[in-house]
Amino acid sequence: MLNIDLHCHSNVSDGVLAPADVVARAAANGVHALALTDHDDVDGLASARVAADAAGVILIPGVEISVTWGGQTVHIVGLRIDPRHPELAAGLGAIRKGRMARARRMADDLASHGIAGAYEGADAHAVNKQMVGRTHFARWLVEQGHAPDMRTTFKRFLTPGHPGFVEHEWTTLENAVGWIRASGGMAVIAHPGRYAFNPRQLLLFLDAFRALGGEGIEVITGSHHPSEYGKFADLARAFSLKASRGADFHAPGEGIDIGRLPALPHYCKPVWQDWPELASHFSLTHV
Ligand code: AMP
Ligand code: MN
Ligand code: MN
Ligand code: MN
Repeated sequence: MLNIDLHCHSNVSDGVLAPADVVARAAANGVHALALTDHDDVDGLASARVAADAAGVILIPGVEISVTWGGQTVHIVGLRIDPRHPELAAGLGAIRKGRMARARRMADDLASHGIAGAYEGADAHAVNKQMVGRTHFARWLVEQGHAPDMRTTFKRFLTPGHPGFVEHEWTTLENAVGWIRASGGMAVIAHPGRYAFNPRQLLLFLDAFRALGGEGIEVITGSHHPSEYGKFADLARAFSLKASRGADFHAPGEGIDIGRLPALPHYCKPVWQDWPELASHFSLTHV
C-alpha cells in the first residue's frame, strides 16, 4: 500500500521540527507522499521540497487555513497549492496579522487572570515570529507549571470560558476555498469531527463548502476516534467529497506520528486519485 499523509506541521507554525526534519521523519516512517500543511503560512515548503527530493518523498505543497464559519473556527487544508500565488500569499499574510493581534489579547486576558509575561513566553516558543498561536501559549503554560501537559492546558486555558481565550474572527470560508482554488489547489475540510456543530449545522457546512468548490474531507485523521471513521467516510460519499488521510503531526510524542494511521476505507475516493505526481507510483505498485 502507498503510505500517503496529507496533514502535518513544522516549526513554521506550531510543530516543533524544522520542515526538513518533518520530511526526514516521514521518510523514516515509510511515507511515500507527504503534504506539509502549516497553519496560515507556506514558508516551510521550499526547504521541505529540497529535503523531499533528497529523500525520495513526493512533497505535496499544502497549507491549513484558519476560518470562521457559523460563529466557529474551522480549518481548511489546501493541497497542491502554488505557494507563490499572490492572492493566496496576501490572504495568508492578512490572517497572520490578525493572529498576532489575537496573541496580544490572549496575553492580556491571561494577565488579567494573574498570569503575566505570556506574550513573551509564547513568543519564545515560536520559531516563526509571525505565527504565534495557542500551542505556543500552551507549551509555555506547561513549562511554567500551570498545567501538567498540553491536553490539561487546553482544558484549563485557551478554550471558551477559560483564561487566555479571546474571540477572534479568522477569514471567511469563501476566501479560504477561493484562494486555494485560485492557486490551483484542492480544498479539504480538516478534522470535521473536532467541530461543535449540531447535525444540521454540519450538513449546512458541508453544503456551503461544496457550493464554493471544496472537494475533499479528512476521514482518517489523528483528531478522529476510530469509531468516527465510518461516519465521515459515509458523509464524504453522501456529499461526493473525496477522502483524505493525515496524522496532523505536531511533535514527537505528541499525538499520532506521521504515516501511522490506518488506510482509508476501501469505498472512499481518495483525494489523490487523479494526481499526476502519484501516477507512476500507482502503476509501479500495480505491476
Ligand atoms: P490556533 O490556530 O492558534 O487557535 O491554535 C490551534 C492549534 O492548537 C491546533 O492546531 C492544535 O495544534 C492546538 N490545539 C487545539 N486544541 C488542542 C487540544 N485540546 N490539545 C492539544 N492541542 C490543541
Ligand atoms: Mn496546530
Ligand atoms: Mn487543525
Ligand atoms: Mn493541523
